[in-house]
Amino acid sequence: MYLYDSVERKKVLFEPIFPKKVSIYVCGATVYDDAHLGHARSALSFDILSRTLKALGYEVTLCKNFTDIDDKIVKKVRETGKSLKEITSYYIDRYLSDMEALGVKRADIEPKATESLDAIESLISKLIEKDIAYITSSGDVYFDTSKDSKYGKISHQVVDDSKNISRIEIDNEKRNIKDFALWKSCSGDEDICFSSKFSRGRPGWHIECSAMIEKHFKGNREYSIDIHGGGADLLFPHHENEASQSRCASGHELAKYWLHNGFVNINGEKMSKSLGNSFFIKDALREYNGEILRNYLISVHYRNDFNFNEEDLLISKKRLDRLYRLKKRVVTTKASQPNSKFKKNLLNSLSDDLNISRALAYIDEMISNSNDRLDINPKDKSLKREIVANIKFISELLGIGREEPFSYFQIGIDRDLKFKIEDLISKRDIAKKSRDYILADSIRKEILSLGVSIMDTHNGTVWEKI
Ligand SMILES: [Zn+2]
Repeated sequence: MYLYDSVERKKVLFEPIFPKKVSIYVCGATVYDDAHLGHARSALSFDILSRTLKALGYEVTLCKNFTDIDDKIVKKVRETGKSLKEITSYYIDRYLSDMEALGVKRADIEPKATESLDAIESLISKLIEKDIAYITSSGDVYFDTSKDSKYGKISHQVVDDSKNISRIEIDNEKRNIKDFALWKSCSGDEDICFSSKFSRGRPGWHIECSAMIEKHFKGNREYSIDIHGGGADLLFPHHENEASQSRCASGHELAKYWLHNGFVNINGEKMSKSLGNSFFIKDALREYNGEILRNYLISVHYRNDFNFNEEDLLISKKRLDRLYRLKKRVVTTKASQPNSKFKKNLLNSLSDDLNISRALAYIDEMISNSNDRLDINPKDKSLKREIVANIKFISELLGIGREEPFSYFQIGIDRDLKFKIEDLISKRDIAKKSRDYILADSIRKEILSLGVSIMDTHNGTVWEKI
């Protein structure tokens, strides 16, 4: 497996710390609002990575956190009058259900900042003991970036101080402008300010990820985890700061490989909440089925920027339709084993830094070949069984093609119309049974006029959207 490492700035051979085991930590959502397409992109990128590593025989442990204490969440608490727990558990549930609709597998570990305060406090204490962090008179704790000679190693970027202070207030007691808050003192209700040996307050954003990694992964003397992932916007300052504080506290590097997914652009502009063009997953799901959306969002290489537009979505849907049309041709057959060459081609493509375009091209080729062979031998059982297995393998690896084909082709038909179609089909069945072929035929025409085609199979009549 080759992966593009953001620190090395090139594709490197992936060699895990422990043979056949992979530890992955991905920075998750700050839960004060609904998840947007940027969250979907990140979740899907690391979902595909994790599925690929599993298919290659690795035992994968994926950890994705929830930042459930943060200035933006506190602002929401104050605006709504709800408790912190009410706000965060509501948005965590929403996040998880959006991701489920997109077919993203749950992480093995999903820690929350408020449930990791012991690990956060002990990591900060360690940094204070080593004189790498310092407490101000108000009880804030800062990380002294000048104490880390390797600061800047992850992002190759240290000079942009303005970004580094974007999430914290300017404090006169800071030793260097680049220093960042590990702990911020605060006064307020019990659920937004927590007691600690430094002051009543709350943790900074960067320290929580380092503490959670320390808490949940053992690592070795050189690295805590194999892969650290997140959106490209997290590289600096978030990942730089995470790496620095972990390096200084433990003496070893936080992650062996750093992976970053690209941005999402909408109408040619970078999607951003501050630009007001953020696109919520829930809105996209109202328009498009989750699997169709997933199929579209994974179709661009994870490191490239993604330009969301409806035209491309419909093109990618046609590709998925072809897969389901093939699935329909083999629907009653049981799976054997996937074609070994096809399986190898797919895995080799994804082993090359998740080369999705090449993988999708192999799927297109498999669909065309299978259709050609089925045209020649429509009753070839072993061919059909292999096709079923190929599709099953695609579903496990990419999370697409997992639905029953007839229901896939019914997507977009509302419940009332569905009820009407099914009612007409049963009336037609009755007409056919009583040999009233004129009535049966007129019902068939009526169904057709609703934009639906029907087919009579061994298992009864099935229908789909034309
Ligand atoms: Zn993080």
